[in-house]
Amino acid sequence: MFNNLTERLESAFKNLKGEARINDLNIANTVKDIRRALIDADVNYKIAKEFTDRVKEKATGEKVINAISPGQLMVKIVQDELTDLMGGTEATFDITGNPAVVLIAGLQGSGKTTFSGKLANYLKGQKKSPLLVAADIYRPAAIDQLKVLGEQINVEVYSEPETKDAVAIAQNAIKEAKTKNKNVVIIDTAGRLAIDEAMMTEVADIKTAVNPTEILFVVDSMTGQDAVNTAKAFNDRLNFSGVVLTKLDGDTRGGAALSIKYTVNKPIKFVSSGEKLDTLDVFYPDRMAQRILGMGDITSLVEKAQAQFDEEQAKKLEKKIRKNQFDFQDFYDQLQQIKKMGNLKDLMGMIPGVGKAIKDVDISDDAFKGVEAIINSMTPYEKANPDIINQSRRTRLSKGSGKSMEDVNAFMKQFEQMKQMMKMMNKMPMGGMRMPGMR
Ligand code: GDP
Repeated sequence: MFNNLTERLESAFKNLKGEARINDLNIANTVKDIRRALIDADVNYKIAKEFTDRVKEKATGEKVINAISPGQLMVKIVQDELTDLMGGTEATFDITGNPAVVLIAGLQGSGKTTFSGKLANYLKGQKKSPLLVAADIYRPAAIDQLKVLGEQINVEVYSEPETKDAVAIAQNAIKEAKTKNKNVVIIDTAGRLAIDEAMMTEVADIKTAVNPTEILFVVDSMTGQDAVNTAKAFNDRLNFSGVVLTKLDGDTRGGAALSIKYTVNKPIKFVSSGEKLDTLDVFYPDRMAQRILGMGDITSLVEKAQAQFDEEQAKKLEKKIRKNQFDFQDFYDQLQQIKKMGNLKDLMGMIPGVGKAIKDVDISDDAFKGVEAIINSMTPYEKANPDIINQSRRTRLSKGSGKSMEDVNAFMKQFEQMKQMMKMMNKMPMGGMRMPGMR
């Protein structure tokens, strides 16, 4: 996710490497590179300029404390500003009311139907009883698609294939929810390929008729600045309550995530990366900022791990990562858990440094088969002690796993790099530990 932006920002901070203190010249060079990085990530020029002006202003006023280098100081400033730009703190999601009504709007293909399924599944996990509503009266396939999703997650889908009035369908669905004791109604509306007056009127009419507690605008993050423009058009008309950014698993540059809050002044509430129904994530601006800066997102990773297996085990893993005792067995166990959790590459990217290491690797479940075979060829002692894997052991692992020596060596190198990154992350002042005197 956002790999190019991460790399460009890292290289901007290199301006400050070896500098004893922060001065006008090195600030100016760094800030210029940051601005270019943002613009290339498809952040609107005005937003990028204001952003870097603020960074410059903050950096200029800062005294460099002995304990941190100018580079670290700049990273911290940028981290805070990125967090602010994306909304500062986590937004709330209001599902009070009986039933609460959540209206889903957005262009066709943005991922509305998939998101509706993910949201229903997420709410089910929160002990809610959702009802999905197919309010697309133009494409019968859209109704079928929602029904298929509903079956997968065991959530009822309300539809009226013969009715050509989306407002009536929405109203009837709410009545149905009341009789069936469903406490959240999720209305998946029709989209068009582009902004279209008839579509807007229809969604606005549904809004007036059902008075939703939440109106979520769903947008494909791959569309960059277009996503931001579409958001503006929908917000002018619907005054929505939040944004859902989809397809973050793709090759997105970051522009949409960074510009939407600024442009429409509405928070991003959820992000979605992948087509599996259990990969919906609440959006945390601070965690996203960390990821953009290549710091990974241990918090989210641990949370996902906790959701998968018991808390004790998850804590143990976090502790091992923090103590740099992560071994091959942990890696193997993680692979098995991760494989169940959705998009592999995205999850791996939450481990500090790993996102970068795997950015050009095409990761599918099959991609792990080789690594699994290598780990399976290790003795328990080797699994627990990565440092003892010498040349002769590597030769044996290669024979045992049927993988080439290059494959074994590449994996060992990757594992070592990952551990180094974890070690660095643990030492970094930004790695969760705050510097005295800093916010
Ligand atoms: P709608 O027309 O807005 O309802 O969009 P759909 O939910 O039908 O999604 C359009 C396409 O995008 C489908 O092929 C989905 O499987 C795919 N899709 C939706 N969300 C995601 C996502 O987060 N990541 C990826 N990679 N694909 C997605």
